[in-house]
Amino acid sequence: MKFQILTLFPEMVMQGLNTSIIGRAVENKLIEIDAVNIRDYTLDKHGKVDDYPYGGGAGMLMQAQPVFDAYQAVTKECIKKPRTIYVTPQGKTFNQSMAEEFAKEEELVFLCGHYEGIDQRVLDEIVTDYVSIGDYVLTGGELPAMVMIDAIARLVPGVLHNDISSQTESFYNDLLEYPQYSRPEVWHDKKVPEVLLSGNHKKIAEWRLEQSVALTKERRPDLYKKYDKSMQAFKRLKKQKRKYIHMMEQIAQGRANMLYNKGMDILLMDKLSGIYMMSAESVESAKVMLCESSMDVKIKSGGVLMIVCDPDIKELLVKDYGMETENPCYQACYTSRETLHVRHKDIRPLTLEHKEYVKEHYHSDMKYIEARINAGIMYGAFVDDKLVGFIGGHREGSMGMLFVEESQRRNGIAGSLEAFIINKLLEQGRTPYCHIYEGNIASFKLQEKNGLYLCDEPLWWIWS
Ligand code: SAM
Repeated sequence: MKFQILTLFPEMVMQGLNTSIIGRAVENKLIEIDAVNIRDYTLDKHGKVDDYPYGGGAGMLMQAQPVFDAYQAVTKECIKKPRTIYVTPQGKTFNQSMAEEFAKEEELVFLCGHYEGIDQRVLDEIVTDYVSIGDYVLTGGELPAMVMIDAIARLVPGVLHNDISSQTESFYNDLLEYPQYSRPEVWHDKKVPEVLLSGNHKKIAEWRLEQSVALTKERRPDLYKKYDKSMQAFKRLKKQKRKYIHMMEQIAQGRANMLYNKGMDILLMDKLSGIYMMSAESVESAKVMLCESSMDVKIKSGGVLMIVCDPDIKELLVKDYGMETENPCYQACYTSRETLHVRHKDIRPLTLEHKEYVKEHYHSDMKYIEARINAGIMYGAFVDDKLVGFIGGHREGSMGMLFVEESQRRNGIAGSLEAFIINKLLEQGRTPYCHIYEGNIASFKLQEKNGLYLCDEPLWWIWS
């Protein structure tokens, strides 16, 4: 992902962003940050970039010409116009959901104002998003741009090395993070809560959730209300767990952007992958939901990927909304909290050096494979130090991408790979699940062997 910053103080942003985690991500080429001095583009022979505002008023205004020329210089090689964010107190207030949305872009341009701001005419031509960092006024846009870039960059797969770190923090689940403690066990006569020393992961997770809920209720009742509404939807979906585990997991992991939530009419978007998931009481109520959430317009403009699990709704989306689909899948989920025995002993996380091997055996584009490896969610089985198979976690959370070389089949490697990833997901407090295409008998057998429960109703991936 590339960040371009248009500013009068490039050294300030570059110094600020070139340290610690973000600096390391730049060094490892996971992100690219470039700051361009707007002053280098002025046509004024004295290097002036500002002038008095028409109509009078305090202070000076940055002029349109140098800003526009700097913008053109950094975007001239872009195939599509990148999202261009003007950091301004007049924008929408930046939050975690916005950071997640921006993190999906390949390129972002940040425009930093100074003095009293920037001539409106150039803003009208180049800016796509007006974003503020809060209701106060700073002297320039450099600190806001740095704040936003830091929050966005750490969501880029691989920057924190593991997707999970950012998923346990404040705001992910509309909850604030629980209190944390480190050594020593006793400090100023205050002892670390007993449960954290117990080694019981289930109890620790329960305690942390309780603390998060209580803290959010007390300090941020607005957030708590959102959390509570999502949990009500979770409880309704849980009545048919095998059918709706994919949606429940989104809510439980704090990844669900709830777009509609009334009874069983639920439409959510996975914040990380942008994939939509929907349940509906009836065809009629689905139509209302699609219209009220403006999903109908989004579907018509294309690029929507959705999971539905009712045949009538699938038919509606294909016939009335022109979406396309293929063969149904069946969902299988592992509902126990017990870890599985892994028979094959040499299973390890894959690194980018294995990407060509994965590409050769799994039909997907290289970018997707790299992203899954960088997210730390692809594991390989090795025999005599040679890679012979792999499994991965898909971007929306299901297990998949399973492959084992022909010569190594039927000796338990596939089962071991799945057991291994199941154990990893359990450690993270997740409910492992996968989607199996109709007719894939070998996979159905494998799920049964590993103790996954199969839903007897189909599910469709559907797109526009
Ligand atoms: N006259 C402007 C107003 O009243 O909205 C304020 C201009 S401010 C002094 C100069 C620059 O700092 C702005 O153009 C903007 O880029 C940046 N800035 C100041 N406060 C900000 C905030 N809360 N969020 C984002 N950017 C901010």
